[in-house]
Amino acid sequence: MSAENQVDVLVLGGGGAGLAAAVSAAEHGASVLLFESERELGGSTLLSAGMLTAAGTSVQAALGVQDSPDRFLQHYLDLNHWQLKPGLIKAFCTEAGAAVEWLIGLGVDIPAKLSHDAHTPGLTRAGVEDVWRGHVPKDQGYGLVQVLDRARRQAGAEAVLNTRVERLLVEHGRVAGVVADGIEVRAGAVVVCTGGFSQDPALRSQYYPDADAAGEDLFVVAAPGSRGDHFAFGTQVGASITGHGRGLLLPTAYFQRLHHWQSGFPPRSRILVNSHGRRFMDEDASYAVSSGIISAQDGPVWMVFDDRARRDLPPGYAHWSAGHVQSEADAGRTLRADSLTELAGKMAVPESTLQATVDRWNRELPRGGADTEFLRHETLAAKGVAEPPAEIATAPFYAARTLPAELVCTHAGLEIDAGAAVLDARGNRVPGLFAAGEAGAGVLGLRYVGGGNAVANAVTMGRIAGRAAAGHARPSPA
Ligand SMILES: Cc1cc2nc3c(=O)[nH]c(=O)nc-3n(C[C@H](O)[C@H](O)[C@H](O)COP(=O)(O)OP(=O)(O)OC[C@H]3O[C@@H](n4cnc5c(N)ncnc54)[C@H](O)[C@@H]3O)c2cc1C
Repeated sequence: MSAENQVDVLVLGGGGAGLAAAVSAAEHGASVLLFESERELGGSTLLSAGMLTAAGTSVQAALGVQDSPDRFLQHYLDLNHWQLKPGLIKAFCTEAGAAVEWLIGLGVDIPAKLSHDAHTPGLTRAGVEDVWRGHVPKDQGYGLVQVLDRARRQAGAEAVLNTRVERLLVEHGRVAGVVADGIEVRAGAVVVCTGGFSQDPALRSQYYPDADAAGEDLFVVAAPGSRGDHFAFGTQVGASITGHGRGLLLPTAYFQRLHHWQSGFPPRSRILVNSHGRRFMDEDASYAVSSGIISAQDGPVWMVFDDRARRDLPPGYAHWSAGHVQSEADAGRTLRADSLTELAGKMAVPESTLQATVDRWNRELPRGGADTEFLRHETLAAKGVAEPPAEIATAPFYAARTLPAELVCTHAGLEIDAGAAVLDARGNRVPGLFAAGEAGAGVLGLRYVGGGNAVANAVTMGRIAGRAAAGHARPSPA
């Protein structure tokens, strides 16, 4: 540390990216101070399933899964139509596996067993990945944050809670520290890990207008600290902003207001129907792509199910319960009718088409056949579901409007290079400034790649940023 600096590396934000950056910078010999705006560490990472997408790991090898960073890279770029910078994505795809091994070494438990969902620890395929690549840790995001925080303490990296960094200290074109609680703190390098901007309506409209399309149905599950402070920091140094229009909205029935762990799950015996009265997708398609398919329809989308499905909903959830659906229907917000013809009238879709759609559905999958158009039987089998969904045949029938309205994370932020350095509008590195996670943009793209894209981005790029910031603050004598 130079005489004028109080610390080598300052980390802003204590979620997955910030904690990974703090531990990694300390491992590389830097003195580290982390500021977290909230009363506890963790951010959205703490709320998440903690699932990480990564290739070439020991967990995959133990299960005989053939994978490599090169294969991951190809899949990643193809799915994103190559609209990302291959150099940055190569760094991410190469380092994600190493980051998972690092986490395991720190004490994160990812058992070598196949998991059929994003919540059971093990290796899963929750997204649209070409091989099993989603690593689900024990105790999910909470477990991940606990292990990283313990590593932080052991490495001697200090964390100050309840302190929202206000601005960067910029001197002669380089970042020299920050101002927090009105106090200047000087550092050799600063790593911005302040998460996304899901909670800020103005920034949402500017950088992710798709969220506005949900109107009053929009609800945000990202952590309260997701206020988009990285944009103000970026403005101070003329940083380049990338990732406009990108984020993750999950499809939900209009009456959901909480993440599905509390809201509950829609009935398995359901179909999604567009304004023409037709099915248009595999209703169990991955969240990585389902919002895009729904948004591509040219009118409202309805979830259609029957009274048997409603009555069979398990108790204990806030929104997807028999009683809640009943009260929504009583209030007239969920459509209900004694016949499919009457339901079609309320939905304003062609009656004969809706009837034909339901008849076709009832003839195929519920009778043990294949869903020949949308291959839903294959998705259910991949999820380990053996019992087919039931017919839609017991009146009354219901239709609940379904749309992408649950905002999970945002992808627009400070453009970074493969070393997590923040770039200015000319593409040059801003001296002393690094970024990672949702705040550091360029890895999360048009499509959410595989279950665990965002946590993998946070931990992998956070780890890279911490190492790079330590190297910047404490250049080796050579
Ligand atoms: C319910 C839910 C489930 C999810 N499940 C998954 C999943 O399983 N897999 C996956 O890949 N992704 C998942 N995601 C998305 C993923 O969790 C996030 O994208 C990722 O964890 C973001 O990490 P981060 O470090 O960038 O941000 P965060 O974890 O949000 O951390 C940012 C931190 O910075 C703090 N901060 C903000 N401004 C300031 C400031 N000015 N000064 C100091 N501190 C500040 C915030 O309070 C916060 O603690 C999920 C998200 C949610 C909400």
